[in-house]
Amino acid sequence: MRQLTQAFLEVEEKLISLLEEVRSLMPYVQSLEDENLRLKRESCALPEKETERVIANAARIEGVAHDNLVRLYKDGFHVCHLYFGQPMEAGACLFCAGFLRRE
Ligand SMILES: [Zn+2]
Repeated sequence: MRQLTQAFLEVEEKLISLLEEVRSLMPYVQSLEDENLRLKRESCALPEKETERVIANAARIEGVAHDNLVRLYKDGFHVCHLYFGQPMEAGACLFCAGFLRRE
């Protein structure tokens, strides 16, 4: 095979595999976007009684040492102000993760 043809075929192969890789990321990107939308909706429209609950959670969190919060989170429980102490259904929570990073 001629050199240029060979080079062209190699580039084409690389592009195809790159495209496959990008496509495989698509569901992940979509789920992140869905999650982002849901979180935006939640944080914009927090009803008043929810706010009270969140403030109470914040007080409870203050009473718990950071290591215990990390352990609680790793055990699958929320440590964020929104859902403190509740089991995590999605396996991870952006609020919790953000909160633990800040601590
Ligand atoms: Zn959480």
